[in-house]
Amino acid sequence: MHSQQVTAEPPSNDVPGALWSPASGADRAPLTFDVIIAGCGPTGAMLAAELRLHDVRVLVLEKETEPKSFVRIVGLHIRSLELMAMRGLLDRILQHGRQRPAGGFFAAINKPAPKDLDSAHAYLLGIPQPVIERLLEEHAIELGAQVRRGCAVTGFEQDDEGVTVELADGERLRSRYLVGCDGARSTVRKLLGVGFPGEPSRTETLMGEMEVGVPQEEITAKVAEIRETHQPFWLRPFGEGIYSVVVPAAGVSDRAEPPTLEDFQQQLRAIAGTDFGVHSPRWLSRFGDATRLAERYRVGRVLLAGDAAHIHPPIGGQGLNLGVQDAFNLGWKLAAQIRGWAPETLLDTYQAERHPVAGDVLDNTRAQMELLSTEPGPQAVRRLLTELMDFDEVNRHLIEKITAIGIRYDFGEGPDLLGRRLRDIDVKQGPLYGLLHRGRGLLLDRTERLTVGGWSDRVDHLADPTAALDVPCLLLRPDGHVAWIGDDQRDLDDHLSRWFGKPAA
Ligand SMILES: Cc1cc2nc3c(=O)[nH]c(=O)nc-3n(C[C@H](O)[C@H](O)[C@H](O)COP(=O)(O)OP(=O)(O)OC[C@H]3O[C@@H](n4cnc5c(N)ncnc54)[C@H](O)[C@@H]3O)c2cc1C
Repeated sequence: MHSQQVTAEPPSNDVPGALWSPASGADRAPLTFDVIIAGCGPTGAMLAAELRLHDVRVLVLEKETEPKSFVRIVGLHIRSLELMAMRGLLDRILQHGRQRPAGGFFAAINKPAPKDLDSAHAYLLGIPQPVIERLLEEHAIELGAQVRRGCAVTGFEQDDEGVTVELADGERLRSRYLVGCDGARSTVRKLLGVGFPGEPSRTETLMGEMEVGVPQEEITAKVAEIRETHQPFWLRPFGEGIYSVVVPAAGVSDRAEPPTLEDFQQQLRAIAGTDFGVHSPRWLSRFGDATRLAERYRVGRVLLAGDAAHIHPPIGGQGLNLGVQDAFNLGWKLAAQIRGWAPETLLDTYQAERHPVAGDVLDNTRAQMELLSTEPGPQAVRRLLTELMDFDEVNRHLIEKITAIGIRYDFGEGPDLLGRRLRDIDVKQGPLYGLLHRGRGLLLDRTERLTVGGWSDRVDHLADPTAALDVPCLLLRPDGHVAWIGDDQRDLDDHLSRWFGKPAA
């Protein structure tokens, strides 16, 4: 399979050079799946689950034979916690993490969050990445997704009916769509020929878990001294004699392979004058600070999500959150396309909505990285911003950015709430998010005189004059964003058509 068979037009969003096969219908294998997802990280697993809510036949192909073992603690921010609540997963996830205050994340400037953040889940959840990945994968499998491990996607070809996906062992599978959730070095993105412009890594950091050969007091004193000049440097006890070690790398290698214990020892000696007797590593990894955004998220029947579409330094802990939220935005739209009720442009709203959000995250990480510099200029800006964050609105703006609750999609003219997500409010059955587990639209109707008519197979209707809302009626998309506000049935019908297609006969 290669990228030069460009002889027919893809259905939309075409770019020259995209894989496109003119093969006639008779030559093609049956479309065994509706969607194949490359990569079972958090983005791929979340997307699989979202698609299964709509009975879409999903296969997830994961190149690793075993789930990841290295224990990187990640933070789930407010919007991701809300998504988990909207799908009935939050209680399960909370058991495995530690709740921490929501503030103090922008450039690690230590300011508490404003008390009245607009969310019922206004905290950060620290949770090991392998655990959140396992919970999301289990959720997808419970809903009926198939996950095949040890299967690397190595090629694909798309035509007017579907995509033929090739695996490393030569097996070919067919589906109607392919989504690359295959991480920063995405094979799918590269094969698509989609540009990934941005800045390469300027620095690299080594990270791992290992045992040490010196007493804790010695480590504490040395680490405090080093951290005055080297931001990414720590040796933290992780229980049972294991230490989490983070140290700047000697240079930028941009390699996928993990570093060696010798790399750690050498860098610890170079920076601290001692290697602390580190030995017996549990796992070793490296990460850079490259910042890149895919030029497009869709080429015909192939889409990109998560780190495959955007990468940035981990400052502020946003990457996993961003990917899971991409999946949440894409899932119902792709399902609608497959089920046949999607309005013509619905699938393209995925890129229209999510590309700018990723651009904004890239920008805020660029800004945060500048603020971490130990140079006098950035340090002065950091002091100034620290002062400005004493103004509630500044602090709130930055927290809403990092936690993604400030996102407003452009749905056109309208009240400020239009295009924003609705917080988890109380309705007569209990928390609103409890009514969104099935991933359907919802009309929240305080007038008790509107109807969802021919859309009732896709949209639920809750007539509830007690709902804690200050508008008469609103329409929520399956991702919890407000698609319409008003009280007029005809206007509502127009908006139901805009988001949910033609009414059933
Ligand atoms: C030190 C550090 C700390 C971080 N902290 C946070 C944090 O606090 N909060 C946060 O939100 N984010 C954090 N991140 C970022 C987060 O880890 C990533 O953004 C997240 O893992 C992206 O998820 P993903 O599913 O898109 O990609 P990945 O997690 O990279 O998953 C991609 C999957 O695709 C598989 N794959 C690759 N190629 C193929 C192929 N050809 N065929 C089949 N499968 C394939 C891979 O094996 C992998 O399982 C941190 C990152 C680092 C480095």
